[in-house]
Formats: sequence, C-alpha cells, structure tokens
Amino acid sequence: MMVTQLEVVLLAVLASCPHQAHGRIGTFWHVSDFHLDPNYTVTGVTDNMCWDMERVKRQSRGEARAPGEFGDYECDAPLALVKSAVAAMANFQPNPDFILWTGDDTAHVDDKFFSSQTVVQIIARLTDELHRVFPNTIVFPVLGNHDYFPKNQIPPGESEIQTQVAGLWSRWFSRSALDSFKAGGRYWEDVEGSNVTVVAVNTLIWYKNNLNTALLPDDDPLAKDPDGQFQWLDDILRQLAARKRKVYVIGHIPPGTFERYQQTREGFHWYQPRYNTRFMEVVRQHASVIEAQFFAHHHTDSFRLFFNDAKSQEARSPVSYQLLVPGVTPWRSTLSKETGANNPGIRLVSYDTITGEVTEVSTYYLDLEAANRLGRAEWKLEYNFTFVYNLKAINPTTLYNLAKKLKNDHFLFDRYYTANTVSLEDPSVCKAKCRRLHWCAITEVNYTRFYECNSAMRLSCHWAFCSILAILLALVAR
Ligand SMILES: [Zn+2]
Ligand SMILES: [Zn+2]
Repeated sequence: MMVTQLEVVLLAVLASCPHQAHGRIGTFWHVSDFHLDPNYTVTGVTDNMCWDMERVKRQSRGEARAPGEFGDYECDAPLALVKSAVAAMANFQPNPDFILWTGDDTAHVDDKFFSSQTVVQIIARLTDELHRVFPNTIVFPVLGNHDYFPKNQIPPGESEIQTQVAGLWSRWFSRSALDSFKAGGRYWEDVEGSNVTVVAVNTLIWYKNNLNTALLPDDDPLAKDPDGQFQWLDDILRQLAARKRKVYVIGHIPPGTFERYQQTREGFHWYQPRYNTRFMEVVRQHASVIEAQFFAHHHTDSFRLFFNDAKSQEARSPVSYQLLVPGVTPWRSTLSKETGANNPGIRLVSYDTITGEVTEVSTYYLDLEAANRLGRAEWKLEYNFTFVYNLKAINPTTLYNLAKKLKNDHFLFDRYYTANTVSLEDPSVCKAKCRRLHWCAITEVNYTRFYECNSAMRLSCHWAFCSILAILLALVAR
C-alpha cells in the first residue's frame, strides 16, 4: 500500500498528541430546594404562604389573590409542582446515570409548625416520589438547612433525624455510605460504570446560623474542624486521587458570598469565615482530583470560581468551579427586596464517563404564571450552557474567561441574569451595583477578596464619574 506524504505527516502529528481517552457521554439530574409545603392550597392566601387558615382568611378577605394550582411566587412548592418537576425529569431524561438531590425539602415557615416527625415525613414524601418515578436510578442526596428541627441546628455527628433519614435513603446507599451518612451526614460513593466518585459533604455544620458550631470560639478544639469533616475530606480526596478517580463534590450550602443580597460592601455569606477559608484551602489543595462541584441553597442559577494561591490577582489562575442549581420552589425570599423569587428549575448535566468532564448543562424550567393560567405544567428547556455562553468546554479556564466577559459584555450579562432567576426577572432591573455584586460573588469566594473587589469596582465607578465631571468642568471653564 502506498503511503502518501500527507498521511505520514498526519500519523506523525497524531503520534505526538498525548492520548486522552474519552468515554460515553452520560447524564445526571441535579435537583434541589423542593421546599414542599403540604399546607399549600389554592384556597389559601398568598401573603401567608398560601395556607388556608380561617383567621388568616378573615384578615385578608377582599384583597387576597388566589394561589395557582402549581404554586405561587410568594409561597413554597405545592405537591402538584413537585410532582410536575419529577415528571418533567422523567420526560426529558428517563434514564440518567444518577440523580443529585441537594436538600432543603421543607417549607420556609416557623418552627412552631414543625416537629422532627413532620420534617422526616416531608423528606419521606419526596424520597418516595423520586423513587416511584426513577425506581432503578441511584440518588445521591444530602440534607439542607431546612431538613432539621429546629431548622439550621443540625449538630455535628449523629442525630435522630439523620438516622431516620438514613433509613429512608438506605435503598440508594452502599453499606459504607449508609454508615458514614448516619455518623456525620456525609459520604462518598463511586458512580458505577464510570471514573466518577461523588463526595457529599455536610455543609450545615459550617453554617453561620447553626449555633452548635457558630457559638464556639476559634480556640475551642471543636471549632477548628467540626466532626473532623475537613480532615475526612482531605483523606478521601487523597485516596481518590491515588485511585485516579474524578470527583464531584456535592453539598447544600455553597461557600462564598450570595449574589443576590447586597447587605454591605462585605456582602452576605453563609459559612462561618473560618470554614469558608478552610473549604477554599481543601479545594485548592485537591483541585487536580476535583472535576466539578455541585451546590444549591440560593434557589438561583450561578457559578463560583476557585483560584490557585498566586502572589497577585493578575498571576492567579482558576483551578476549580462550582455550579449552583436553581430551586424547584419559586418562593420570594424574605432576605431582601433584591433577592426576589424565581421560576422553578431542574438541571440535566451531561458528562464524559471516563474523564468526568462536564460537557453540557441543560436547565429546564416552568413558567409558573403561564402554568397556572393554562392549568397545565409545561416544563421547557430554558437554556444549554455551552450554547448561550458560546463555550467549547466547561472547565475552570473557560468559566473564568466567561466571568471576565460578563464584566464588560452587557448583552452576555443580561443572558446570565435572565438565567439567574430562571427567566423570571428582566435583566434591566440589575444596574451597576447589582452587576458588581454578581461579578464579585462569582470570582471571589474569599470574603476579604470579595470586599476588595466590591470596593475596588465601586472606586473605579467613582473614578469614571470624576473623570467625566472634570472634563465637563474644563469645558464649562473654557
Ligand atoms: Zn432552599
Ligand atoms: Zn438552604
């Protein structure tokens, strides 16, 4: 057989390329923050979580708007919305490799309406629904800060609620994962037929509203590493690196600053500062084995970047990223006016089963207002990440390039902002201060650096304003 010169050149080029084996493109669902409210009813009142209480009805009579069948932006999720979300998952991808379910199962109502039993009952209801629709699919779940009684107060280590929930989830857990979850609300598990390992962390013990750890002074040995979870994470990631696994770290509450609440220039965060710093260190140290991170709690669609420890901001490079999934509940947060509500969202992630690389992130959503008006829940594809942001791949580098573009490209930022509330808010509501908040939250997980970013950009705005003013004054003076 004759070998042409061109073929020789091609073979030489191929031989010089390092061989990167690729696997099957698999998919998994990431769903979160259902916040199922069994007391929701269409005869309820929207200014009281859509509950139908005679006293509330009398107070609000005449001015109350009727809640819709599939939910209301002022309230948490009725069962009809939860069922429609899980049905939509089965409709768009009935055979995912697995499902990530990252917590917050109960409603945003006062503890006086709850008990340990009601919390477990709601988690059991959601567990049954996912298992009924996906009987052969493994679910990797974690608890949210609303999945405890009293809410937010989950103690490090074992607890009665955690043990009961472990029983509900034992159908999905291996023996070792079950024991680990029971003991500390965390576990790791290999995904069958792939190189991916899911490492699920209990973020609730790092939460600033969890008094079990928040009240401990820094010099208390228990405060340093509650339940030894950082040490556990460090050990596990080391072992998984030795096994050449590709890790997805999952959890409920994300580190860093919330992008939709401008409390002060310092921003608004969830982790106690000491744990935010430690989490960043662990991620940085093990970035080569962590392929991606999947978190929730915000109910909004955003992402976070983690960088190496460089001498200057200019010299740093991104080493890891975290995708924040929107919630199923549409509930308008009472945190602040700018936090707002969202349309219900669910997310399908495509990934390479060998490299673990995320190849696509497809977010599906329900236009809640339209669903209630039409009397049927028509879930639709909201957007594909690589298409909307014009990315060839999803990794720390491409996401950092995207973040840099978001800073100056208003058209692209508007697309991001539309996705942030799951196509609910018009991006024109997000002015300079709001845009700065999003940009700094995405790129600065470190609290101090977030503050510097927020202050620096504010200063640069002032500089721009002062420069224009100086030019105008000079013109007037002429
Ligand atoms: Zn939530
Ligand atoms: Zn939460």
